[in-house]
Amino acid sequence: MATIAVLGAGYAGMRAVKRLIHEKVDARIVLVNDHPYHYESTQLHEIAAGNKEPADITFDIREAVPDKVDVVIDTVERIDREHGQVMLKNGEPLAYDYLVNALGFESETFGIPGAEENSLSFNNIDSAMAVREHMEKALANYATSHDENDLHIVVCGAGFTGIELLGELAWRMPQLAKGYELPEDLIKLICIEASPKVLGMLPESLATWALDYLTGKGIAMHTGTAITEVRPGVVVAGGQEFHANTIIWTTGVRGSRVICDSGYEQRRNRVMVQEDLSVKDHPNEFLVGDVSAVPDVQTGRPYPTTAQISIAQADVVAANIAARLTGHEPHKFVFKSVGTVCSLGPHAGVAQIDMMGHWKLKGRKVGMVKRLVNDRSVLELAHVKEMLESN
Ligand code: NAD
Repeated sequence: MATIAVLGAGYAGMRAVKRLIHEKVDARIVLVNDHPYHYESTQLHEIAAGNKEPADITFDIREAVPDKVDVVIDTVERIDREHGQVMLKNGEPLAYDYLVNALGFESETFGIPGAEENSLSFNNIDSAMAVREHMEKALANYATSHDENDLHIVVCGAGFTGIELLGELAWRMPQLAKGYELPEDLIKLICIEASPKVLGMLPESLATWALDYLTGKGIAMHTGTAITEVRPGVVVAGGQEFHANTIIWTTGVRGSRVICDSGYEQRRNRVMVQEDLSVKDHPNEFLVGDVSAVPDVQTGRPYPTTAQISIAQADVVAANIAARLTGHEPHKFVFKSVGTVCSLGPHAGVAQIDMMGHWKLKGRKVGMVKRLVNDRSVLELAHVKEMLESN
C-alpha cells in the first residue's frame, strides 16, 4: 500500500488529510507535526495582544482526524528527495510514495541588521505568547524603572499582521493601563512601514480607512519610513531613532527552512509549483500553502500566501493524489479569491469581498461579515473546524 506523508497540521495539511479521507484513497496517510495540536495561524495576533488564550484557537490533532490516519509528533528536519524519505528530529526516517509538504511560514527579516536578535516575531503559539509576556513584563516594569521606553511598543511593518496586531493592541491597552496603573498619556504605540501605503493588498480607500482608524486610537503611524537597523531598544528608520523596550517584527514571511535545507529551487523558501501543484520533475511531491508559490496568470506574480489559497490548494492536491493512485489525469489548480478581511480589534475591520459582486466594507459591519464568513467557511478568517467539515 502506498504511503502519503502530509507534513504540517496547519490549515493546508489538515485540509489535505480531510480531503484524502473524503477521496477514499487506498493508501496509508501519515500526518507529521511538531506539536500535538493545530492552531489557527490567522488568529495569532490576538494571542500576542492578549485578547485570546491559546485554548481558544487550538485543538488536538488526534481528536480531529480519523483513527486510520497515523499522527506522528516530531519535527521535520529535511526531506531526502532522492530516496523519498522525510528526515525527522527524533524518529526514524519516514518513507513516502507521495508527499504533501504544508510546513508553513517563518518570519522574514530581509537581512536587516539586528532585526533577528533585537525584535520579537510570532509564527506559532509559543512565539505569540512570548510577545505578550515580553510586552506585559515591560509594562509592569515601569512601576520600578520609570523608564518611558517600557511603555513604548513599536510594530515593524503595516501589512495584515502588523495592522491586525495594532487593532488588538489598541483594544487591550486601556485594560493593561488600568491593570498596571500606568500613566496612559505616556504609553506609545508606534507603527513603522516602508511603503507610503498600509495594507498593500487592499484598495486605497480601505487602507486609508484602517490608517485613520488606528491613528484615531492614538497610534503613531509612520508610513514611507523604511527600517534599516534594529538595536536593543531602538529601531532605526527613515533617519530617525524610535526607542521602545518592546519591538515586534511583522515585515513579511518566508516558507519553512526545510525547503532550502532539502535542496529545492526556491525563493524565500517558496517553490514555484506546476499547474497540478506538484514540483517540476517530481510528480509525487506536492507543495501547498506558504512553502509554495502559484503564479497568478493575470499578473505573472505569485499569489500572496493566505489561508484561503492554502485550503483551495489542499483540495486540489488531495484530488490529484487520488487521481494518480487510480491512473487518472491530475487537475489544474485555478484560484479565485473570494475576498480578504482585515480585523481592527474585536469589533471593527475592513474587508474586500469578491463574492456575489464586489464589496468594500469597513467599520463594525465587518464584524458581521466575520460571523457570516465563519458560517460559510469561505474566507480565510473562517474557523478551521468548519472548514475541515465542509465538503
Ligand atoms: P506582508 O508582506 O503582507 O506585510 C509586511 C509589511 O512590512 C509590508 O507592508 C512591507 O512594506 C513592510 N516592510 C517590509 N520591509 C520593511 C522595512 N524594512 N521597514 C518597514 N516596513 C517594511 O506580511 P504579513 O503582514 O506578515 O503577512 C504575511 C502574509 O500573510 C501575507 O501574504 C498576508 O496577506 C497574509 N495574512 C493575511 C491576513 C488576512 O487576510 N487577514 C492576516 C495576516 C497575514
